[in-house]
Amino acid sequence: MEFSSKLLENAVNEISQLPGIGKRTALRLALHLLKQPKEQTAHLVQALSHMREDLKFCKSCHNISDVELCEICSNPLRTDDIVCVVEDIRDVMAIENTASHKGLYHVLGGKINPMEGIGPHDLNIVSLVEKVKRGHIKELIFALSSTMEGDTTNFYIFKQLKGLEIKTSTIAGGISVGDELEYADEITLGRSIINRIPFEGSLKQ
Ligand SMILES: [Zn+2]
Repeated sequence: MEFSSKLLENAVNEISQLPGIGKRTALRLALHLLKQPKEQTAHLVQALSHMREDLKFCKSCHNISDVELCEICSNPLRTDDIVCVVEDIRDVMAIENTASHKGLYHVLGGKINPMEGIGPHDLNIVSLVEKVKRGHIKELIFALSSTMEGDTTNFYIFKQLKGLEIKTSTIAGGISVGDELEYADEITLGRSIINRIPFEGSLKQ
């Protein structure tokens, strides 16, 4: 791609670093911004920069938050002894949309994936086990996607909880193998949270 402006070329190069955005789309977006009032670009830059600088992760559940303890963890109306274990923030959003889970969350930040070099210590597992050890939580709901990595992660956590008094369940029903949780439709997802099954019962013999 030949540019008559180095400034435009730099902008296009930066925009095209984003996932799913090729050079052509980046050019279209850059030209779009050039047609808009200058303030619009300033607002975009400001919003992105504020998000990057000031956004926090909840100190309890690792969900994204503007304050130390996220809105879900600090809501007194939530059931604080049932914790739903999810891979990432998008899963929290998907489950919140179903309105079927009144408890709290624990965001792992990924799944165990040896192929990509992601081990248990790269995830928020220690803080989850510590949380369970404090003895207040009655039930953990594993809501990871039914992929091999999701199953491996569930099982790893399950083993870490050995000897601790905690009920573990999984939302196996309704989410087919290989389906990512974030893509499950709300009704199916909501139903599978309500009809969750004991985790041990879900293990293949
Ligand atoms: Zn939280």
